[in-house]
Amino acid sequence: MPRPILATIHPPALRHNLARVRAATPDARVWAVVKANAYGHGIERVYEALRGADGFALLDLQEAERVRALGWRGPILLLEGVFEPRDLELCSRLNLWHAVHCDEQIDWLAAHKTQVPQRVFLKMNSGMNRLGFTPQRFRAAWARLEALPQVEEISLMTHFSDADGARGVAHQVRVFTETTRDLPGERSLSNSAATLRHATDPAVRGDWVRPGIAVYGSAPDFPAHDTAHWGLMPTMTLATRVLAVQQLQPGDTVGYGSSFVAEAPMRIGIVACGYADGYPRHCSTGAPVLVDGVRTRLVGRVSMDMITVDLTPVPQAGFGSEVTMWGRAASGAVLPVDEVAAAGGTVSYELMCALAQRVPVVVQE
Ligand SMILES: *Cc1c(COP(=O)(O)O)cnc(C)c1O
Repeated sequence: MPRPILATIHPPALRHNLARVRAATPDARVWAVVKANAYGHGIERVYEALRGADGFALLDLQEAERVRALGWRGPILLLEGVFEPRDLELCSRLNLWHAVHCDEQIDWLAAHKTQVPQRVFLKMNSGMNRLGFTPQRFRAAWARLEALPQVEEISLMTHFSDADGARGVAHQVRVFTETTRDLPGERSLSNSAATLRHATDPAVRGDWVRPGIAVYGSAPDFPAHDTAHWGLMPTMTLATRVLAVQQLQPGDTVGYGSSFVAEAPMRIGIVACGYADGYPRHCSTGAPVLVDGVRTRLVGRVSMDMITVDLTPVPQAGFGSEVTMWGRAASGAVLPVDEVAAAGGTVSYELMCALAQRVPVVVQE
């Protein structure tokens, strides 16, 4: 029998979350962001459920090839554009739209021999200071692209640093809107947080929104809001079982470093899941977990292949009991991945993307 850990992908939840995003921005087209192998879910596993999107946005050319191989004929956007000149050949062959964020990418386009003019998304650095042309240089970049026979159509994009937080998006929207005022072309600004929180404003909504994490059932601005607030459903469950039970007496310690000390007699479950499965080692005593659908907590440190959980709230639990690390239990109880991530001092993105290769994955029937 295989080790009992298993990840399950939930297509109905993916469909539901995509519909939630659409309902928040009915007038915008939606890029389903499937970078990082669909945030750890597997592009092939999410494809059917996300076909209702208007396009797929991603980073790797190989991922773009996989989406085309699945039969997708609609738009695909490379969010970081091409990485070297010959990538443009693949863009021509597979009809990929690509971001243009630096002069080198324009140089490559200018030198590219093609019969098929390409569709590009010119990216502005409106304040995040990662990719894109500064507002001062944006219009010159636009004019260069506009003059190239290799370019069919120019759309305009930017990315927000604080869509999920207190600073918000207004300062970047102002810069973007002012700089692009009289330029033609479609606009794309919003990630999940901006789409759910700010996209009632047409200047934020633009023509295309780019939700990722919300599609994968996680609240983009947790803990300000949770998945219940946004009506999102978990798309990935990481489940396993209790391998053994230990009865502790006061003063007994648990695991490496003896970081947990029992204050009273208690039962703990030893669970088949560790950091080698992608569960964050920064979680420790107090991190939430479900045993037989009942919420309890980790005790002690996460080790490579095992964690230890407090069975006090679930006295009937024992050898073989179902343990939900995040997602949905058999009973229907939900443990949002956001809460586990917060307990480990990180974000849900990292947990889902880090699901380890050794964990078998199935798609819910
Ligand atoms: C990853 C990414 C997104 C999606 O962000 P979420 O927070 O997951 O919604 C949108 N736009 C760009 C440019 C990205 O790189």
